[in-house]
Amino acid sequence: MIIEENGWKIIFFVLLMLFTLIRIIFAVKSKQSKVIQSQNLLEEKIKAFTVSLGTFFLPLVYIFTPWLDSFEMNFPLWARYTGFAILFLSLLFFLYVHSVLDKNWSPVLQIKENHELITSGPYKYIRHPMYTQIWMWVAGQFLLVSNWIVGLAGIITWSLLYFTRVNKEENMMIEQFGDKYREYIQTTGKLFPRFF
Ligand code: SAH
Repeated sequence: MIIEENGWKIIFFVLLMLFTLIRIIFAVKSKQSKVIQSQNLLEEKIKAFTVSLGTFFLPLVYIFTPWLDSFEMNFPLWARYTGFAILFLSLLFFLYVHSVLDKNWSPVLQIKENHELITSGPYKYIRHPMYTQIWMWVAGQFLLVSNWIVGLAGIITWSLLYFTRVNKEENMMIEQFGDKYREYIQTTGKLFPRFF
């Protein structure tokens, strides 16, 4: 089925709003648990805001204005459908991961009161399933929008946060949970399950 550019914009908008709704629900939940330790708070906040530029604000400009239309990449239809499928799966996975991590989630690096080390659900196999999910999201965004500014903005802003955060997060978890986390590292992969 041929979908006009505005059709893709509407589809992307609906997915983006569902993503935002899930985030808001869990952000409200997360606020209920007390923070006992934050790491590099200002830097983390700036990076999280930068990601929101690439995955939320710029996509909204793409959806609601024609300003970015000249950066269209003319991806073939199958690529845009693949983007849709990836975004849809990523959304379901997002809901699942958020519900497993529950009140231990925070948008920046933090340890909460009574922080539990989660090793169940996707965490049984992967240490950073939410980051896997966001990688899927930015890849799906690129394919669906077929626009190099919006596509690259998602991938670049997310890469900046991911590559500067993930090792710090693991060190923070080791500081908090000690050998329990060190053992957990032995049996899990960072973004994908370990098969050996
Ligand atoms: N990196 C994880 C979580 C992202 S949210 C993922 O991709 O799924 C970031 C917060 O989650 C961090 O501040 C840390 O306190 C917490 N966290 C990370 N891994 C955790 C785990 N296995 N159990 C509990 N909390 C965890």
